[in-house]
Amino acid sequence: MKIDVLTLFPEMFDGVFGASILGKARDKEIVSLRTVNFRKYANNKHNTVDDYPYGGGGGMVLKPEPIFAAVEDLTSGLATKPRVILMCPQGEPYSQSKAEELSAEEHLIFICGHYEGYDERIRRYLVTDELSIGDYVLTGGEIPAMAVIDSVTRLLPGVLGNESSAVTDSFSTGLLEYPHYTRPAKFRDWEVPEVLISGHHGNIEAWRRKQALHRTFLRRPELLENLSLSQEEKDWIKEWTKKENN
Ligand code: SAM
Repeated sequence: MKIDVLTLFPEMFDGVFGASILGKARDKEIVSLRTVNFRKYANNKHNTVDDYPYGGGGGMVLKPEPIFAAVEDLTSGLATKPRVILMCPQGEPYSQSKAEELSAEEHLIFICGHYEGYDERIRRYLVTDELSIGDYVLTGGEIPAMAVIDSVTRLLPGVLGNESSAVTDSFSTGLLEYPHYTRPAKFRDWEVPEVLISGHHGNIEAWRRKQALHRTFLRRPELLENLSLSQEEKDWIKEWTKKENN
């Protein structure tokens, strides 16, 4: 996969793109990660990329010309146009299913905003997607883009080794993940659930499924609404609901 990031602060990506899973994916050439400072497309005397908002008000607005020029330069001559993703708090709430959808693409372009916002024509006529990483406002789109790029890259085949797997991750299964334990079997007064050291694979799987369901029921019950559950699982949920209401 090829990922281009349009940003005014490319140096912010140095550590993130070079370390851990992203660094390894890059070294193995599973993903190519490139930052482009769109200031170089400003094409005016002072390399200005922002201007005062029409109609007044505080804050500066990113001008359309440099961002259009950067995207057009990156996509010129390409047979298939890549997804162009605008990071913004007004966008579609980002989710694991969106990460899965994006991981099937060959080329992604991210646009990181700053200041008060973007000229609306960027939103309307240039981008294919608008993504928000949550209902809060950050200073710029760089940290949100990093979050999306990280979560997409770890889904690419060959990126995760045996040490971690995306299959049982929270949200991939539709549930929050079950609890984990490692050695020692007894730490202070707290023992690891016996089933996990029983060596009985079937019982371990069943325990994990029930724990994942219970954790999701307690923390994110809305995730259960669209899941197909067995009759036994529905009965557990009824029981937990009854207990909660008592
Ligand atoms: N005035 C804008 C608004 O109210 O929608 C917020 C601008 S914010 C200070 C500057 C930039 O940070 C945005 O253009 C966007 O790129 C990025 N940003 C901030 N919060 C974000 C979020 N929750 N998700 C994605 N991007 C975000």
